[in-house]
Amino acid sequence: MATDADRNAASSTQVRYSPLEQQFADVDEIFDELRDLVRSTDFTLGKVVGEFEEMFAAAAGSKYAIGVGSGTDALKVPLKALGIGPGDEVITAANTFYATAGAIAETGARIVFVDCDDTFGIDPDLIEAAITPRTKAIMPVHLAGDMANMTRITEISEKHGLPVVEDACQSLLAKEAGRPAGTWGIAGGFSMHPLKIINVWGDAGVIVTDDPEMDRMCRLLRNHGLRNRDEMEILGYNTRLDSVQAVVGKWIVAKVEDIVAGRIKAAARYDAGFRDVPEITLPVRRAEKGPGERAVYLNYVVYADRRDELLAHCQARSVDAKVHYPIPLYKQDALRHLGYEDGAFPVTDRHARSIISFPADQHKSTAQQDYLIGVVREFYGR
Ligand SMILES: *Cc1c(COP(=O)(O)O)cnc(C)c1O
Repeated sequence: MATDADRNAASSTQVRYSPLEQQFADVDEIFDELRDLVRSTDFTLGKVVGEFEEMFAAAAGSKYAIGVGSGTDALKVPLKALGIGPGDEVITAANTFYATAGAIAETGARIVFVDCDDTFGIDPDLIEAAITPRTKAIMPVHLAGDMANMTRITEISEKHGLPVVEDACQSLLAKEAGRPAGTWGIAGGFSMHPLKIINVWGDAGVIVTDDPEMDRMCRLLRNHGLRNRDEMEILGYNTRLDSVQAVVGKWIVAKVEDIVAGRIKAAARYDAGFRDVPEITLPVRRAEKGPGERAVYLNYVVYADRRDELLAHCQARSVDAKVHYPIPLYKQDALRHLGYEDGAFPVTDRHARSIISFPADQHKSTAQQDYLIGVVREFYGR
């Protein structure tokens, strides 16, 4: 009997969001190394975690990489390392994934949202108005594989002496002005959750930094604040990167350039297929801004007329379209206590109404990509 992976690979009239079955169809190398790991019983912070961290730092373009338990912790731990806690405020983007807000809230600091611009990132023109004497950091989010405007955000952070911790969970290997996502601020956080650019077999995250003191603090914080076996320097957490996930991480981080190249190629094909459809508006493409600019298309996002009808049309034809995200965080019950009024973030609201995401991973065949394009064009009678 055909497995789901076979069916997905073979079927040009089904486009699923997740490429994981194909991603991990042939993993004998991982099992070989896992066997060695089990024999070594080196299950926490052993050799393999260090090897993975070196590979990740090289891929991400940073001096140091620190493996942690999740992308959420890869944001929380650097904030804690900066001493951020109750009474402080952290500025972030209004259109983001739940975990950005969750990581800030876990430190005890107040989440301060700022509206987005049409790059999907935080609007730099609105940041300064949100700064108060309590502001302790800015956490821009690089959404959907693109980047927030880090040139402007860095200027603002320097002017106000505010550290930047980048939420780069969706944008491994994206670049602005030749400088990779995650390497602009004092630290950047990445996720290896199954839905991100590179994925392991569960949860994992990575912090990158060029700052030796940030590196030291993050290593302390991820492991109970322990300086050594018997001395606890500060209060910390248990959020080590699992050695088992580090084995998977090594295998996949070695492939990241190809993964990203596949996504960029898929996005270019979609762009060409949609460019003459007036009901679809393509966001400004980073690559068109010049060399040294790269978006990695974790989600391929466009603005669409009659979005909800298009979404239903795609889903009825086995094209797994999604919306990232349909309900802005400031309208979620969990964050009502922040006191934002409806309409406080008009661009985020407009995005929530009009954006649609299509899968653009490296495992979709050109036949599947063309089927997806055809389904969208059919909806608009093009
Ligand atoms: C996935 C994600 C996170 C959190 O990552 P986890 O590994 O799921 O904890 C944080 N921010 C953004 C923007 C994300 O997409």
